[in-house]
Amino acid sequence: MMHETPKPFDDLALQPLAGEWRKGSGGQVLTVTNPYSNETLVEIPQASRADLDAAFAAAQQAQQAWAAQTPTVRAQVLLSAVRIFDQRRDEIIDWLIRESGSTRLKATIEWGAARAITLEAASMPSRVHGRILESGVAGKESRVYRKPLGVVGVISPWNFPLHLTQRSIAPALALGNAVVVKPASDTPVTGGLLLARIFEEAGLPAGLFSVVVGPGSEIGDAFVAHPVPALVSFTGSTEVGRNIGRIASGGRHLKHVALELGGNSPFVVLADADLEQAVNAAVFGKFLHNGQICMAINRIIVEKPLYGAFCERFAARVRELNVGDPNLIETAVGPVINARQLQGLKAKIETAQSEGARLLVGGEAQGNVLPPHVFVDVKPEMDIAFNEIFGPLVGIQCAEDEAHALTLANRSDYGLSSAVFTASPERGARFAQRIRAGMTHINDIPVNDDANAPFGGEKNSGIGRFNGDWAIDEFTTDHWITLQHEPRHYPF
Ligand code: NAP
Repeated sequence: MMHETPKPFDDLALQPLAGEWRKGSGGQVLTVTNPYSNETLVEIPQASRADLDAAFAAAQQAQQAWAAQTPTVRAQVLLSAVRIFDQRRDEIIDWLIRESGSTRLKATIEWGAARAITLEAASMPSRVHGRILESGVAGKESRVYRKPLGVVGVISPWNFPLHLTQRSIAPALALGNAVVVKPASDTPVTGGLLLARIFEEAGLPAGLFSVVVGPGSEIGDAFVAHPVPALVSFTGSTEVGRNIGRIASGGRHLKHVALELGGNSPFVVLADADLEQAVNAAVFGKFLHNGQICMAINRIIVEKPLYGAFCERFAARVRELNVGDPNLIETAVGPVINARQLQGLKAKIETAQSEGARLLVGGEAQGNVLPPHVFVDVKPEMDIAFNEIFGPLVGIQCAEDEAHALTLANRSDYGLSSAVFTASPERGARFAQRIRAGMTHINDIPVNDDANAPFGGEKNSGIGRFNGDWAIDEFTTDHWITLQHEPRHYPF
């Protein structure tokens, strides 16, 4: 079926608040800029505390009727959203390039991931199952109903703003919840406003989806502590996530939390690995979106017999990468998100050198574009190895043998994703099972996200899992209901 080309998204200074598109009443204006060109993209009046209250109240009100809709009705809205993703593909990708500094390739991958979770979520309404249990009490029927949580509060980051917001809101809405989103201040358009437009066009009833634009440092605590949201689904740094966990479970109102936090993915190359394949994977798994991905390779660990050859070949490949304008199809490394992030990365480069790491590939930043940096002779206790980098820098460590490679891989407070290269996939699987992480990929990069596979981390990388059946568990809850069919005899 042919559909008309839609009108471009307009009036992006307005937010969907409690069922209407209007300006935030907080008094401050958020200026959203293109991190590559510095051009102002939009100026958004920020939301106030009263806007936040109104958004949560409307969500609570609208949720009950939405949950009572048949699975088919809810699925239909999600399927319409998929169609709009397709119709508006170029426009969405263009916004990702301009607002988050995504290269054209990364923006296309992100659009695809957000579309995939929307399609997956369309099947969720009919995948929710209650249970009938045997009861230990005579004459009792024991049922478990699976219900929506109610209102879900979503706080999302700037690196994959479209996808990391959508992977919470699409399942949450499909399963009968309402959502209020606080997008990252660097990416309010792709992290919330475009999605609200898409769902509105898809026929989602008003009030079910609000976006509150404002700094996390100012409205974050009020958002998390608010009595209405039953679940706070947060994706971002471990530091902020820890604070959110504290507020959500230590305040007056106890809530569910889903925390998808930082990472420090090891990429292990065992001595029997195919060198060329491993190098190709390492280059892509490190520098996609300039390393600003929670699952990005943060440490490369190579077994001794391959170490020298790997470092040489990896550095040669990295020197060939195109660096600069993210809009150009051939660009591999574009701008980092903002000047503050750039300063932090420059400090990491200085620290790596002062700690004794040897720079093999480097270069000066132009604007917010930092060229790739590769360090060798890196030790596990160095900052560049032990802490999350979130930028286009990487250090390569040498492992004495497989056991040492495993020790190095596990030497982290994080446990999100990981990867191991070996000629023997079964050897890889045995190695993978001994890594403490939520995800490990053998002979591939740690950056993988399938809409039907469990996504999440261990240790300081978070609590909970996204996608597929795991999202159904996360965004619904059990209600045990019993029916006593015959009079029960009580002891007193
Ligand atoms: P961030 O600083 O933690 O910000 C994430 C979100 O939290 C933003 O919307 C931010 O709002 C908000 N926020 C800030 N302070 C808050 C507070 N006190 N209360 C409530 N919300 C608050 O993280 P980021 O720098 O955007 O993202 C990078 C980090 O996210 C990295 O550590 C990365 O590994 C992690 N990440 C994890 C995953 C995963 O799936 N595990 C995926 C992507 C990223 P403002 O923008 O207004 O400050």
